[in-house]
Amino acid sequence: MTSEVTEALARERADAVRRLADLEQLHLRIVDASRDDNADDEHDTEGQTIAWDRAQNSALVDATKERIAEIDRATKRFEDGWDGSCAACGAPIPHERLLARPTATRCVACA
Ligand SMILES: [Zn+2]
Repeated sequence: MTSEVTEALARERADAVRRLADLEQLHLRIVDASRDDNADDEHDTEGQTIAWDRAQNSALVDATKERIAEIDRATKRFEDGWDGSCAACGAPIPHERLLARPTATRCVACA
């Protein structure tokens, strides 16, 4: 039963790693764009857009890295033989929930 969930985790991790690579590519393009654009930000809406893009991109990079760390923690839980019980109430977390949200540590009622 847990192998399906760990497979789901592996898939989610692969997706997140791909997304992170895309975001890092995008970051390089944004940095390049801001290097070409050395006008002062205050009177230059393009510069402001780039600053916003950069902030947005770095927030997404952080979120994606955190997502990968979360997936790794979940994978470790399963490797350590976690029985799939809710961290709050101890009831077994339904298999369907773990398949849909393999990083969940709580049942629906406690989430
Ligand atoms: Zn619970």
